[in-house]
Amino acid sequence: MDDLYTVSPRISALLAGSAARRVGFDLAARKAALARLSATILAHRDAIAAAVAEDLAKPATEADLVEVLPVLSEIAHARRHLRAWMRPRRVMPTLMTLGTSAALYPQPKGVALVIAPWNFPFLLALSPVVSAIAAGNAVAVKPSELTPATSALIARILPQALPGLAEVFEGGPEISQALLAQPFDHIFFTGSPGVGKIVMAAAAKHLTPVTLELGGKSPVVLGEDADITRAAKWIAWGKVVNAGQICVAPDHVYAPQAMLPALGAAIRAEWQAMAKAGTTAIVNDRHYARLTALLADASAKGAQVEALGPDRPEARQMSARLLTGTTAEMAISSEEIFGPLLPLIPYRDLAEPIAAINAGPKPLTLYAFGGTDLVARLRAETSSGSLGVNLTIMPFIHANLPFGGIGNSGMGAAHGQMGFDSFSHLKPVMQNRFTLLPLMFPPYTGRVKRLKDLVLRLVR
Ligand code: NAD
Repeated sequence: MDDLYTVSPRISALLAGSAARRVGFDLAARKAALARLSATILAHRDAIAAAVAEDLAKPATEADLVEVLPVLSEIAHARRHLRAWMRPRRVMPTLMTLGTSAALYPQPKGVALVIAPWNFPFLLALSPVVSAIAAGNAVAVKPSELTPATSALIARILPQALPGLAEVFEGGPEISQALLAQPFDHIFFTGSPGVGKIVMAAAAKHLTPVTLELGGKSPVVLGEDADITRAAKWIAWGKVVNAGQICVAPDHVYAPQAMLPALGAAIRAEWQAMAKAGTTAIVNDRHYARLTALLADASAKGAQVEALGPDRPEARQMSARLLTGTTAEMAISSEEIFGPLLPLIPYRDLAEPIAAINAGPKPLTLYAFGGTDLVARLRAETSSGSLGVNLTIMPFIHANLPFGGIGNSGMGAAHGQMGFDSFSHLKPVMQNRFTLLPLMFPPYTGRVKRLKDLVLRLVR
C-alpha cells in the first residue's frame, strides 16, 4: 500500500509535468500515448486474465471479452476520431452577436483523478484513463483495494505505458481520501452512490468538477408482446456475466402475470446452459454474506426462492436464484442486488411497474422487452440514465453513446467523444469581425434608443 506521504509529491510531479505538457501534448503525442497504452495492454493480456482470475475467478475468455476488449476498442475509437474531437467546434452567431465568429476549443482540464470499483477492476480503471489522455490530461488512478492482484498489475504497467502522464495509487478509502484532498482539475469516480456523495463533498472543497458513474437498481419490463425466449437469454446473460456484479445488470424483472411461469422456465434453461462453463466468483466473503442475508430476509418475509444450480461457498461461487413473491418490505426490493439474484414481479397493468420505477431512485439503465407501444411509454413516462430495448448491458459498450446515470445513478458521461468532453474544457473563443454593438454603447442618445427599440422588435 502507498505511504500517505508519497501522495502529494507524486501528484505535484504530475501537476508540474502537466503544465509543461499543456503546450506540447498535441494530437500526435496523444495518439502515440494511446498507442503505447494499447501495446502495453496487448503485451500483458495473459497477466491481466491471470490477475482478474485471482481476484474474481473470472473465466479467461470473459476476462478478454469484458476487461481487455472494451479498453482496446475505446483506445482504437479515440485514436480514430481524436483529430475531429480536438478540432474547434464552430458556433453560429445569434441576432445579438451578428458580426462576430465563435468556436469552442477543447482544452485539457489538467490533472484528473480516476477512482475505480472492483467489479470490472481493469476496464473501469483504464477506460476513463483513455478519455483523460485523449483529452490531453495527466491522470492519477486509484484502483479498488478489493481486487489487489489487478490493482498491483495496473500499478506496474500503467506508469510504464504512460511515463509522466499516469500515476497509480493503490489502497483503500484512506488513500482515496488523501487523493481527494488534493486540488485535482477533474474527478472521475465509479462506484456506489454512498461513496459518490463523499467524493462530491470532497470535490466541493476545491470546486473540482466531477463525473459520477454510480449504481442502483436497473429494472427490466416485459410487455404483453415480449419475445420470452429472447428476453430470457438477455436477462440470464446479465446475471451470468460477472455473476450479476455489474452496475447495469438487470436487477429485477416486471412481467405480465400470465407470462411469469414461462419466463422463469426460460431464464432457468438459459442460465444453466450459460453457467456450465463456470461463472465469476462473488468478490469477497462480505459480499457473499450480504447476498445470503438478502435471500434470508426475503425468505423469512415470505418470498419463494429457487436456486438454479449448486453453490460452492468455499470458492464464493453462488448460483443464480429466481425469487417470486417479493414485497416492498424486503431489503432486496430497495438495495442494489449486485449479484445473481433475480426477483420476478408480476403486473396486471403497465401503469404498475411504471409507478414502482418512478417511486424509487432513478435507475442507471432501464430495459424494455416488447414492441413500440411499450418502449414509447417507458421512454416518455420514466427517467433513467439510459433505456435498452430488447437487450441488456449493451448500452454500456456503445462508444458513440454517452454512458452515465441521472440523479442517484450519477452525473456526467463516459465513453467516446462524451468521455473526451468530460475531461476537456470547451473554451468559447469569440472574435470581433464587424459587430455593430458599439453603436449601442453609452451615452444613450436618441439614436441608441431607436436602435434598441428596433432590436427589441426583431428579437420578439
Ligand atoms: P465503492 O463505492 O465501495 O468503491 C469504489 C471506490 O471508492 C474504491 O476504489 C474504493 O476504494 C473507494 N472508496 C470506498 N469507500 C471510500 C470512502 N469512504 N472514501 C473515499 N473512497 C472510498 O464501490 P464498489 O463496491 O467498488 O463498486 C460497486 C458499486 O459501483 C455499485 O454500486 C455499482 O453499481 C457501482 N458501479 C457503477 C458503474 C458505472 O459505470 N456507473 C460501474 C461499476 C460499478
